[in-house]
Amino acid sequence: MVKQTIQIFARVKPTVRKQQQGIYSIDEDEKLTPNLEIILPRDLADGFVNNKRESYKFKFQKIFDQGASQETIFENIAKPVAESVLAGYNGTIFAYGQTGSGKTFTITGGAERYSDRGIIPRTLSYIFEQLQKDSSTIHTTHISYLEIYNECGYDLLDPRHEASSLEDLPKVTILEDPDQNIHLKNLSLHQAATEEEALNLLFLGDTNRMIAETPMNQASTRSHCIFTIHLSSKEPGSATVRHAKLHLVDLAGSERVAKTGVGGQLLTEAKYINLSLHYLEQVIIALSEKHRAHIPYRNSMMTSVLRDSLGGNCMTTMIATLSLEKRNIDESISTCRFAQRVALIKNEAVLNEEIDPRLMIIRLQKEIQELKDELAIFTGEQRTEALTDAELLQLEKLITSFLDDQDPESRLEVGTDMRKIHHCFHHLKKLLNDKKIHGKSTVSCEIKDQDCQEPLKEEEYKKLRDILQQRDNEINILVNMLKKEKKKAQDALHLSSMDRSECRHSQSLPFPPGNPEGLRMLPSSAPKQIQDVSTFGYRSSLLHRKTGMREEMSLGRQEAFEIFKRDHADSITIEDNKQILKQRFSEAKALGESINETRSKIGRLKEEITQRHMQQVALGISENIAMPSMPDLLEEKLRSQLEEEKRRYKTMFTHLKALKVEIEHLQLLMDKAKVKLQKEFEAWWTEEATSLQVNSPAVNSLSHVKPFPQTPEFQQETSQPLFNKSNVNGRKILPSSSPIPHSQEHNITSTSLESSVPERPASSVPLTGDSQTDSDILAFIKARQSILQKKCFQ
Ligand code: ADP
Ligand code: MG
Repeated sequence: MVKQTIQIFARVKPTVRKQQQGIYSIDEDEKLTPNLEIILPRDLADGFVNNKRESYKFKFQKIFDQGASQETIFENIAKPVAESVLAGYNGTIFAYGQTGSGKTFTITGGAERYSDRGIIPRTLSYIFEQLQKDSSTIHTTHISYLEIYNECGYDLLDPRHEASSLEDLPKVTILEDPDQNIHLKNLSLHQAATEEEALNLLFLGDTNRMIAETPMNQASTRSHCIFTIHLSSKEPGSATVRHAKLHLVDLAGSERVAKTGVGGQLLTEAKYINLSLHYLEQVIIALSEKHRAHIPYRNSMMTSVLRDSLGGNCMTTMIATLSLEKRNIDESISTCRFAQRVALIKNEAVLNEEIDPRLMIIRLQKEIQELKDELAIFTGEQRTEALTDAELLQLEKLITSFLDDQDPESRLEVGTDMRKIHHCFHHLKKLLNDKKIHGKSTVSCEIKDQDCQEPLKEEEYKKLRDILQQRDNEINILVNMLKKEKKKAQDALHLSSMDRSECRHSQSLPFPPGNPEGLRMLPSSAPKQIQDVSTFGYRSSLLHRKTGMREEMSLGRQEAFEIFKRDHADSITIEDNKQILKQRFSEAKALGESINETRSKIGRLKEEITQRHMQQVALGISENIAMPSMPDLLEEKLRSQLEEEKRRYKTMFTHLKALKVEIEHLQLLMDKAKVKLQKEFEAWWTEEATSLQVNSPAVNSLSHVKPFPQTPEFQQETSQPLFNKSNVNGRKILPSSSPIPHSQEHNITSTSLESSVPERPASSVPLTGDSQTDSDILAFIKARQSILQKKCFQ
């Protein structure tokens, strides 16, 4: 990177007439920076306070006086820039000054003499000369020539220029890429292989410029021309390309609009004729000030195009062209002032190098080819893109033998040829995938085979079918038992005990009686299930009855019933039967467990016998002797044990069956006794209620609906039969004359007597009022008194 400020040079145009002395002086001390002093002529300084001659001093890199030749200008100003461009840096030389100050003469040159050639042709000549000298580098040169007039860009090298006026040509527009690089659309780039070609392009552009210019439109004074030399260079074989641009800029005349000429307003209020120069000055001012964040490049096309030249990646040089005649003093001073500002701008020029992908591909392709050639020398065979058929066949043979080789350390040797290695991998992958697919189909074949082998598994299938049948039987038994229990509860009063006994007998025989083979087929849980189901049926029956009791009896009536039951003669019998039933249940349970044990024992013995038998056979085969004719004592012992267990099993099973019959019979007896007790209670209760109704007055406000007088406290109980459903559903006992429905009577009679202490859930005691509760209690007390009286009479 090269950091440097914009170089400023001054060039004074020769005057035609003999110039008055004392307008300017150049102080050129070799050790110091040259100074240009512009002395305001006395007549122009009129009006100043002290009438003193005023002078302005400006520093320049170098000041070229009137006699400076084009050659000198080139050598001092353009040549260093051209050299940096050849080295790969961007460069810009622009001429700034009022119209007629020699900008075009300096940049392009005079048209009359060869020696008047300006910077452009000399630079072109120099560059091509240098390029020719440097044979180690490949160079490409392109030329573009842009004119900016009235903020519009025109391509001076457009071939249509001859046939069209400037305005009809496509405008050159600015495009900016994401990296903020400027690209000019519609600006043609013309390759120039030689100095001559490049010069022809320059002349073409200048000619086009002149054609476009008319006497009415002095475009040259108001337009900017940017002649650009694009240089690309690279070392042979290198993919790194250097790009450099050299802008040679002939700006529009910098003269101002307001040219007061004299007095205090001199050089203060004047404005540029050309707007883009105004913007150029804005950019220059912005760049020359420190810490300015925004540089207004975009304000004009010219500043956009020269963006890199001003405060960017460029080595820039300015030539201030001065026409130091008396009438141009103000403009000259303006030009110098402008140059002073420009001199403050610091640029950072970097080498524009980039990797050319096209060149990179070419280089890599070349490298590949070289390596291939090198390899061919080693292997002795020229490699082609694809493997030959013979090579492929050979590889597949190698893979097959590798896969078949059982040695875990075997290797697949195919050499270092990557094509062969890759082919091996592909082939193995293919084999693996094929095997996967084949594997799947093999599995399905195996399944089919299994299906085909069904006859072989017939035995197992039969076994499963038998188990299934057993399970079905068990389920049927359980369902029947449940039905039986339900029916028993429902038909307790209506079915004859004989009928039920028969029914139960037929349903409660789940196993074929006394068949040892049949016993062997029993599922392991069968005896337990018998017991459990019986218990369940019994309990569910109790539950049902208890529920029925809760539903059907009021609390007071329950109390009365409990007392009635306790004092009843049959209650002893019921209690006895209950105890016997409990005993039988526990017996049945113990018996069921013993049966289970015996059954397991039978199974174990059978297993032992089978094993023993197999051992004997195996022994006979191993010792190559015939089966012993003598019977095996151990086996016989096991067999006798087995028979003993079977007998036990049979006995116990018979006993269990008998127990079951007894249990069911006892349950039946209890049911009958309970029904009898219930009936007697109901009869007594009715009787008691009737007597209360007759003897006691009504107790509550409902008495007015009844035809007979009642005391308020006994109204409810004494006015109606107390077993009416609407009355007994809770503690509230309401009078009703309706007869007892048949089904309702059944519900009542099936009420269980198992609970010695009746439960009194709050939910079943709907309280409608304190008076009703009281009357309920009174009814109970009355009933109790009546029972006591009855007992006394007995
Ligand atoms: P500008 O482009 O700044 O308007 P030109 O370069 O056209 O000015 O110059 C105006 C005239 O002055 C031209 O005829 C040109 O030949 C002449 N001229 C300018 N500078 C010099 C110079 N250094 N030596 C000889 N003639 C010059
Ligand atoms: Mg000009």
